[in-house]
Amino acid sequence: MSKQKQGITILGSTGSIGRSTLSVIEQNPDLFRVIGLSCRGSIKDLALQIERFSPDVVATGEGKASELKQLLGKQAERVKILEGRQGYVELAEFPGSQKLVAAMVGAAGIEPVLAGIRTGKTIALANKESLVLAGSLLLKEAKKHNVNILPVDSEHNAVFQSLYGEKKENLEYITLTASGGPFRTWSLSDFSKITLQEALNHPNWNMGKKITIDSATMMNKCLEIIEAKWLFDIEAEQIHVLIHPQSIVHSMVTYRDASTICQMGTPDMRIPIANCLGYPDRIVSGSDFLNLAEVGKLTFEAPDIKKFPTIQMAYDVLKMGGGAPAALNGSNEILVEHFLNQKIKFTEIFEILSSLVQTIKGYHKDRLFSDKPFLFEMLEISDAIRADQWGREFALQSIGKTAVVN
Ligand code: MG
Repeated sequence: MSKQKQGITILGSTGSIGRSTLSVIEQNPDLFRVIGLSCRGSIKDLALQIERFSPDVVATGEGKASELKQLLGKQAERVKILEGRQGYVELAEFPGSQKLVAAMVGAAGIEPVLAGIRTGKTIALANKESLVLAGSLLLKEAKKHNVNILPVDSEHNAVFQSLYGEKKENLEYITLTASGGPFRTWSLSDFSKITLQEALNHPNWNMGKKITIDSATMMNKCLEIIEAKWLFDIEAEQIHVLIHPQSIVHSMVTYRDASTICQMGTPDMRIPIANCLGYPDRIVSGSDFLNLAEVGKLTFEAPDIKKFPTIQMAYDVLKMGGGAPAALNGSNEILVEHFLNQKIKFTEIFEILSSLVQTIKGYHKDRLFSDKPFLFEMLEISDAIRADQWGREFALQSIGKTAVVN
């Protein structure tokens, strides 16, 4: 008797991670069946995916469902079409799938991820923002529903693999590697001249725009430190960062006997995705196998916190706790959006994020807890959402103050 295929739902199927996930699924047609797909606005791509993978259900951004129906014509009768915030939640809850790949960008991912957890689906999490926003609450919910959260993010997936079969009490610290982005070798004095094109040109990874800018500012590593804290339930001090420009060693775990275990591979997201889809088994990913003779040299260096203060911000907001990480993340989302629209300079991202961290630090010092309790304590998802909103408004107001008209 053939094994029953595992049902998969992908939130954000037209993005970089979503497409890579479908590529891994295509290479393992006997193992998986696509139950649900979603996008925000890439309706044509979604229509092509519907034709190719015949999902039971799809969700689009608000007001986009009619466009999709029109594109699909008669085919539209064979798929349930949802839209908007509630649509994504319903998609995540939809029966028939055992695994939810959360690959949408930004804080909008949190509600559907929670919905997936509450319906008992294993979560393959690529949406790091949902953990940054409300990691403690998400993990608590996952525990309550006995749900596994598998990390898609290459660094966290490397840590996850390096933890196989080990006892947690033997873990000393983890080391997240970072390529260092396109400006690793630039001098700080040249940062004010950085253009959008230069920031979008990542040396190793081919990714979506938001995460590419986050890699250039190293905000991506900041978010990944916060993500690691919740995923592996460790102290912030147990999370180290190491620059590794070749992106071959994806991260490592060091144990109390001073052994360090790492996971290596080509910089291809299909490897961690295949790990999450196949877990606990190993399946074909389609990636090239690593040829270390060809790579030749692996190098490592300490991160430069002066050039990239975003790394330090992770430890600062984790120490403050509550909604501070959510506020930082919300603020960053606004700043990246404005940088992509060429409304602010690259260095303004650092300036405004630093000022946000200083502002929250000030509240702590003066114990101004009463009018913004969500920044200090996170009891419910609504606190995370309010902190995120506060961070967004902080960024918008700051942009108004510093905007330079060229
Ligand atoms: Mg990563």
